[in-house]
Order: sequence, then structure tokens, then C-alpha cells
Amino acid sequence: ANLEAGVSTDKVTAMIRRESDHYTQRNPTSQRFAREAASHWHNGVPMHWMLDWSTPFPLFVADASGSTLTDVDGHKYDDFCLGDTGSMFGHSPAPVAAAIAEQARHGLTYMLPTEDVVEVGKLLTAKFGLPYWQVATTATDANRFVIRWCRGITKRNKILVFHGCYHGSCDDTFVRLKDGKPIHRPGLIGQVYDLTTHTKVVEFNDLPALETALKDRDVACVITEPALTNIGMVLPQPGYLEGLRQLTRKYGTLLVIDETHTISTGYGGYTRTHRLEPDFLTIGKPIAGGIPCSVYGCTAEMAAKMKEAETASGPGYSGMGTTLSANAMALKAMRANLEQVMTLAAYEHMLPLSERLARGIEAEIRKRNVPWHVSNVGARAEFVCAPERPRNGTEAQAAMHHKVELAIHLYLLNRGIIIAPFHNMTLVCPATTAAQVDHLIASVGACIDELQN
Ligand code: PMP
Repeated sequence: ANLEAGVSTDKVTAMIRRESDHYTQRNPTSQRFAREAASHWHNGVPMHWMLDWSTPFPLFVADASGSTLTDVDGHKYDDFCLGDTGSMFGHSPAPVAAAIAEQARHGLTYMLPTEDVVEVGKLLTAKFGLPYWQVATTATDANRFVIRWCRGITKRNKILVFHGCYHGSCDDTFVRLKDGKPIHRPGLIGQVYDLTTHTKVVEFNDLPALETALKDRDVACVITEPALTNIGMVLPQPGYLEGLRQLTRKYGTLLVIDETHTISTGYGGYTRTHRLEPDFLTIGKPIAGGIPCSVYGCTAEMAAKMKEAETASGPGYSGMGTTLSANAMALKAMRANLEQVMTLAAYEHMLPLSERLARGIEAEIRKRNVPWHVSNVGARAEFVCAPERPRNGTEAQAAMHHKVELAIHLYLLNRGIIIAPFHNMTLVCPATTAAQVDHLIASVGACIDELQN
């Protein structure tokens, strides 16, 4: 029989067909809503990513709380996707829900600061270590603005990204490698100017390639996640992040660490856990418990240089900020989240449970001898349908088997389990239980049984 990723391609095809039919039968209300919505929404959804689940039609949600989601047909799900990190600390954490209700009676946005601003500044510095902060609305925005600051500070035009990176819909980062050459990320719509003019791209975990790219001293900043989490999962090899910091310092390039996903690592994110020394740190998605909000922090040295850049550019428009950024509601939610939700105690629950999840799925894989593996950064675990841990974006891309993954996703969904749609990512939140984790582990095992010859 033909095999893909160590499982039967015929059985994968059969599973996709069977589970798609099963999904359709199970979800009549979602199907009806999808049909009705198609009259007024482009492709039937308010945001086209909602189609990326590859289900016959989108699952419509009725309710979500903690680690559990309920659809409009009344099925309950163990949610390991958690809004692809936006709800990494659980759906509607009680302190955030209370803060939102409280602020709702006092106005939502005034383009003026509130008392919460004083407290949130202290909380961000206490949690992440960097002394100065700004708020934006999405991780995309935080990254865009930081890239602009880095160019303003260094007066260099170029930035550098790693092949397979994702930092949001931030134009400058849409560059990939193909046969050693920079190209536009495939699929971009309406891209009329050449992004490779100002963005260099090299493979992650390759210090010599990085040095070659930085040597001309024309790179304002390197922006990266400490482990690539948007192309499966690529972990840094021992010494790599230290080398990255040394080389960026050597060539006057600033280092931007995007913690949006790797906040899963532990309290204060990967940066604090592994004592990284970024010039700028960005984080969005879960920072205000699911209310649109992001932040970027910087060192005192960078803050001083931002002032110089402001003086140098003179009066006018900075090209940064959006009207609703740092609104009163976002600050209130962020304060509650930082004070009461993203706590040490939360991580003390999440980390061992994610470890249980990762080792549990690993054991199911080993028992059945499929050539797969599991990686995790703290509360974020990913099972990959390939034998070797990828060292870079190219290897990670080659390790993706979309059809196999689709079969698994549909199988799990029909059995009350949601994992991230784009790859096999699972998140554990403070409300996740051992029983939910064990249900996932057993279901992945049962799914592999069905896919094997
Ligand atoms: N940075 C990273 C590392 C991300 O994974 C993402 C989203 N997946 C973003 C930034 C962008 O987040 P947003 O879509 O909320 O702007």
C-alpha cells in the first residue's frame, strides 16, 4: 500500500471522506448558519481564516469557557486550539470577564490614559524585565511598529527574518527562501512592490548564514520567535540564540523577540525563562485575555534612541499607532489578565500538563511505530508527522503532511477535540484538566490505529 508519513494514503483518504460526512450529519445548525451567512459574507465568513479548518462548513460556536467550547448543535469540545493562542489562558477567564463588565459601564475608549496605565506599566516590567512599553492592538501592529522604530533608530533600511517565520500580516516579513534565494511568500494578494529589496532571509539555526547576511551592516533588526512555532515547530539548537545575540551586537543590528506564541514557555515567556537579551520584545494575542491588544517593550538604551529618532524626524506623523490602541477597555482587561490570570500558579498547572500531553502522544506514536515525533515549548505542544525534529523552516515545511493532518483534525473534531487547524498544535490552559489531556492522547492513538495498515 502507498504510505505517506508512515500511514496508508488510502486510509487517510477514506477517513477524510467518512469524517467529513459525519461532520455534516452532526452539525445541522452550523450548516444552516453557514448557508445563511453566505448571502452577505465573502466566502460565508467574516474573516477568511475561519475557512482554514477544512471542515465541509465552519463550526459555529455557541459558548466557550475555560478549556471547553460548545457549538451551536450542543456538542462540547475539549479545546486545545484556544483561539490559536488568543485564549491561551482559557476562554473568558473570570477576572478578565469581571474587568470587562466593570469597564463597560465607564466608557470604552477615550484616547486618554486611565489609572490602569500606571499599574499595567509596572506589571509589564515586573513580568518581562524590560523598562519601557507601548501598546498596540494586534501582534501584527506591534511588530510593524517595532520594525519602524528599528529602522528609525539604526538608519538602516533592511530587516532580516528566518525562512518559515510568521509575525502577523506585516508586509516586511513576507519573504521566504527558495533554492537559496529570497522570494515573496507564495499566495500574497495585491503585492505590488518587491519585499525582497528590504528584507533578507536566512534559515533558522544557521549562524554562518546569519553572519554573512549581517556583515554588510545594513540590517536594522532581526525579528524572530525564539522557537519557530508557525511552521510546525523548530526549536533553537543549543547555543543558537546566544550566537544570534552575539552576531546582532557585533554588527549593530537590533534583536526583536516576538513572544506572541512562546509566552507558553513559562512565566515571562521564553525571554525570561532563558534569559534572552532582546532590544525589543513584542507580544499580542493572549496579553489581555482575548481582548484585542498587544504590547512592545524595549531596553532603556532603545527608549533613549527612540527619543533621538523622534527628534531627528521632526514634527509630523510617526506612521505608528491606531485610534483604538491602548483604549480603556484593553488596559482594564490587560491589568486583570497580568495580575490574576498569567500568574506563576497558572504556569505551574499548565507546564506539567503539557508535558503529560507531549509525552503521552509520544508514547502512542512509539507504541505504533509511526515515524512521527512531538516537540513542546512549555504549554504549547506539537506532534509532527515526520521522524526527525526539523532544524529550520525548509525541513519543517517538508515535515508537514496536510492530508494526513486534515484526517486527524476531522477525526478529533468529531470526537469532541479541537486542535489548531493549520498544523498539529495543542495548547494547555489553566482550566485544562488531566482527563481532557488523556482523552486527546487516547484519541490520537485510536486515530493512528485506523490510519495504519
Ligand atoms: N507573531 C506571531 C509569532 C504569531 O504567531 C502571530 C499570529 N499567529 C502574530 C505575530 C500575529 O498576531 P495577530 O494576528 O494577532 O496580529
